[in-house]
Amino acid sequence: MALEDMRSPIESGCPDGFQYMHPSMRKNFGQWKYHEHPRPGVLLHVAENGDEIWTVKAGTQRILDLFTLRKLTEIGDKYGDGYVRFTIRSNIEYMVADKNKVEPLIKALEDAGLIVGGTGNSVAMISHTQGWLHCDIPAADASGVVKAMMDELIDDFKNCNMPNRVHIATSCCQINCGGQADIAINIQHTKPPKINHDLVGNICERPTVVARCPVAAIRPAMVDGKLSLEVDEKKCICCGACFPPCPPMQINHPEHSKMAIWVGGNHSNARSKPTFQRLVASGIPNNPPRWPEVAAVVKRILNAYKEGAKDWERINDWIERIGWPQFFEVTGLPFTKYHIDNWRGARTSLNASTHIRF
Ligand code: SF4
Ligand code: SF4
Repeated sequence: MALEDMRSPIESGCPDGFQYMHPSMRKNFGQWKYHEHPRPGVLLHVAENGDEIWTVKAGTQRILDLFTLRKLTEIGDKYGDGYVRFTIRSNIEYMVADKNKVEPLIKALEDAGLIVGGTGNSVAMISHTQGWLHCDIPAADASGVVKAMMDELIDDFKNCNMPNRVHIATSCCQINCGGQADIAINIQHTKPPKINHDLVGNICERPTVVARCPVAAIRPAMVDGKLSLEVDEKKCICCGACFPPCPPMQINHPEHSKMAIWVGGNHSNARSKPTFQRLVASGIPNNPPRWPEVAAVVKRILNAYKEGAKDWERINDWIERIGWPQFFEVTGLPFTKYHIDNWRGARTSLNASTHIRF
């Protein structure tokens, strides 16, 4: 085919956000003088030229059905200026230029069963991965954990009760594509995968699976005359990375796949460096549909943080100031030998070669 006959490629990147912005935001881009937080769920931005824009935030989950989306956009057309956006934590925000529209908009949202809040020093909407719907390796319904948790924490979403904002995240597998937050609720497998040797030869690309293991625990093997794999269980860290490319290496288990809670993960900001999250509770039952044991631990951490942190300290700043021994004391969470990883033995167990793995 001649070059001129070929169709031009479809640009599938992120669309230009300016076309969707409220006209006042477009007009005053980069010209904002100050902003205020008049009440939970509402922000006011004032531009150099005196223009005002009011933002009303309502809690919405990450996976929205068509009927709810229609309802949200109808409210935006009727009570707002027809412009909305979704925040990084999947909440809807309505922008209006007229202060008089704010209260009727809040009333319309609340009449429709939505909750206004999530700004400033509140517990923001919990973000979650959505593997239960589309991914091949989830071991828990992360969106279900969010629903159960937000029912418990709704007062902390509606009000600004916390020392600073709290981001919570849930993930549905242990490799977890979305688990970095002030408090992260993740799945944790506790047993190595169980191999169905009858299926491996026909389903799995064995070199890919062998290369996938971060601790080089998988080897090709012949089992009952069939091409298969074997796992060195002493090395296996139960990460579950082998399960996606090789479903016959089943690792999800109703009893042995547990929930774990990590705290203190944060991106860098103007005042502090980035911090990794650390494990503080493990072996919590993966107990749908309400995960009460998970909610109890999260509330314990939040209560201790609320009590002990200074104003505007994030969870990682608070722990850094008081120290980890004090953190375990004030939260009452047990500190066990499983909380310590000193990397002894890493030289023999970790795959430390420089070869490229896919
Ligand atoms: S957390 Fe794991 S299972 Fe869930 S969407 Fe991400 S990769 Fe898939
Ligand atoms: S990929 Fe993870 S779960 Fe699979 S054998 Fe290796 S360490 Fe174990």
